[in-house]
Amino acid sequence: MKFGGTSVGRPERMHQVADLVTRDAEPKIVVLSALSGTTNTLVSIGESMAKGDRDTAREVIERLEAHYHEFITILLSQDASRAKAGAIIREHFEFLRIILRISFNDALSKDILAQGELMSTKLFSVYLEEKGIRHELLPALEFMSIDAYEEPHVPEIRQRLEAILAKHPGVGLFVTQGYICRNARGEVDNLKRGGSDYSASLIAAAAGASMCEIWTDIDGMHNNDPRIVERTFPIEQLSFDEAAELAYFGAKILHPASIWPAQHYKVPVRLLNTMQPDARGTLIVEEAGSQGVKAIAAKDGIIEVRVKSSRMLLAYGFLRKVFEVFEKYRTPIDMITTSEVAVSLTIDHATHLDAIVRELEPFGDVETTRDHSIIAIVGNQIAQTQDILARVFSSLSGVPVRMVSYGGSDHNISILVPGGDKKKTLQLLNKGLFGLD
Ligand code: ASP
Ligand code: MG
Repeated sequence: MKFGGTSVGRPERMHQVADLVTRDAEPKIVVLSALSGTTNTLVSIGESMAKGDRDTAREVIERLEAHYHEFITILLSQDASRAKAGAIIREHFEFLRIILRISFNDALSKDILAQGELMSTKLFSVYLEEKGIRHELLPALEFMSIDAYEEPHVPEIRQRLEAILAKHPGVGLFVTQGYICRNARGEVDNLKRGGSDYSASLIAAAAGASMCEIWTDIDGMHNNDPRIVERTFPIEQLSFDEAAELAYFGAKILHPASIWPAQHYKVPVRLLNTMQPDARGTLIVEEAGSQGVKAIAAKDGIIEVRVKSSRMLLAYGFLRKVFEVFEKYRTPIDMITTSEVAVSLTIDHATHLDAIVRELEPFGDVETTRDHSIIAIVGNQIAQTQDILARVFSSLSGVPVRMVSYGGSDHNISILVPGGDKKKTLQLLNKGLFGLD
């Protein structure tokens, strides 16, 4: 069971999490994020330190510490447990203040980021203790790891996790940190922002869990972005493939990397709502459950790169040369369309854009435009759904569609629109494909 930042971000919510994990006696591992807002704050502390602005870093540290001390006065009711939690908080903030005084580097910034999950789990543990709930805290840094390419390996994680679990026979409740891990150099590292979902899926796979529950603040994956479109509904069942497409193309509820461990090790995933624990949420399993359009998601900040060349006409090897440039700069391509004299493709970050454009220029005219959104329309066998393209395009009259990708995947039709048209596009598709205004 993994609980996200908002699920532990207030003391009352943490109380609720304790209720949820003790609802039945099934053995479980509970994975927690940092309290909401903490990781962002830790990021900003690291940024201030990197700039040499220690005063700002110190101020932010003080403010965050005050927040934690306030948090435990509501979380806990007994003096002894408050004293214990207070000592935990002081220890972690003392560590941050020590970092303030030494010269800053990348490894230290990872140490800073790890404090959020370390504190949330320890404070939760003190609360469970206060309530007399038997449990063990599992240090994720002792079993969660990534290799030199930042990839985790389930068999290795399993080996270490099993050894630790074996030390606690008879314990049915374990609590551990999401997000944090050790890297190939043995340093503290993490699975990137939002990585607690990934931790949960890896742990579920490693432990041979019967289910991986991801508890957030929404009742499952919705058919459209509920922050933008008014009438949306939770999807009952998704296949791993559909969920992967939705997560990758912007459904914020689930970290995209968290799909593969569950899929590969055949652990069903359920997305649930801490605020509405009895809602069914979304079940993600191998089978899609139904065919046709399931959901729409949008990914922002997309850059379109277009290479036009009349020399491309009838030339072979052109696409290879273009792709090699992106490969050289380790920049993944999301969408691609070609015509006889041009190729358009999209990337989602501009880190190496200037260099890429420079190297593409010998092949033809290169044009780049920024701030587009990819709208992904996802569903099992969607490409074979009758009239699907007609329905998509008749819904979108008036929207200046820049690119379309159809047929590349059985589960996805993607269109590229200017970022400013995203909202309208999502609303029009909600009406055209789901009949909801
Ligand atoms: N606390 C980390 C973050 O905010 C990891 C997570 O919550 O998934 O990115
Ligand atoms: Mg998250």
